[in-house]
Amino acid sequence: MPAIHYRGRFAPSPTGPLHMGSMLAAFGSWLLARHAGGQWLVRVEDVDPPREVAGAVESQLATLAAFGLHSDAPVQYQRRRSALYQAAIDQLLAQDKAFACHCSRADLASQHGIHRYCVASQQRPQPAIRLRVADGSHVSFDDALQGRQQQDVDREVGDVVLLRADGCWAYQLAVVVDDAEQGITDVVRGADLIDSTARQILLQRALGLATPQYLHLPLLLDSSGQKLSKSQAAVPVDAAQPLPVLRWLWVALGQDPAPLEATASVAETLQHAAASFRPDRLQKTSRRAPIQPPG
Ligand code: GLU
Repeated sequence: MPAIHYRGRFAPSPTGPLHMGSMLAAFGSWLLARHAGGQWLVRVEDVDPPREVAGAVESQLATLAAFGLHSDAPVQYQRRRSALYQAAIDQLLAQDKAFACHCSRADLASQHGIHRYCVASQQRPQPAIRLRVADGSHVSFDDALQGRQQQDVDREVGDVVLLRADGCWAYQLAVVVDDAEQGITDVVRGADLIDSTARQILLQRALGLATPQYLHLPLLLDSSGQKLSKSQAAVPVDAAQPLPVLRWLWVALGQDPAPLEATASVAETLQHAAASFRPDRLQKTSRRAPIQPPG
């Protein structure tokens, strides 16, 4: 079997139905994977039960299916992958790269919520586990679309939570372990997550894992060039009307509308999209969409 040269993924959290922003990440990551002749995987990030909405997993997967976006491998569920997260924590604890922390949010308020050393006012029944972020932990990376990015993780983020005091695995830990374990070469996601990337790279280094290529897709703008309002951005996409949504996302991704204008089915639309997608047309911020998002 030839070695995998490109494996992308879409990793929604089941906190509600898929909206335009999440569909941009889904379609954009699918297009880039197809363009590279690579694989595209779906991973359900159900690692945060308190934020999970009943029925959201099923609704998200049904929406992806209605849009013809099918995972090239069985869908993975983070809920079933605790052993991998525990092994990563055990490795970091054994190497003194992580530590138990009893600090509460209130304890850290005077430090703007940034943990550099423990100031716990009392011991908790179950401490959090944090990554030890050394002084001077400056991370820079080249985002394939947004360009050079940098962050002083020690000063701007502090010691990163890996296991929360409520017993839930932190998103940062699960995403790093899973991207590596699934052999993801290219992480394509919304620009709202770009701020997490430096700490994910730091965690990859602590665990001895490779860093994938990152590409953060543009934030969606409305027709007047303003960032899509929270209420607009949260409107669920209409799974019964995939074609107008695909065409809208296609334009928001900077692509020439013509190849998708006269398509009659989802399959035909995706086929034309994959064949005519031009990554060099992607914009850092989404081109002003000529129409309001459907729905
Ligand atoms: N699960 C995250 C979300 O839905 C995305 C994680 C990622 O793409 O790294 O916002």
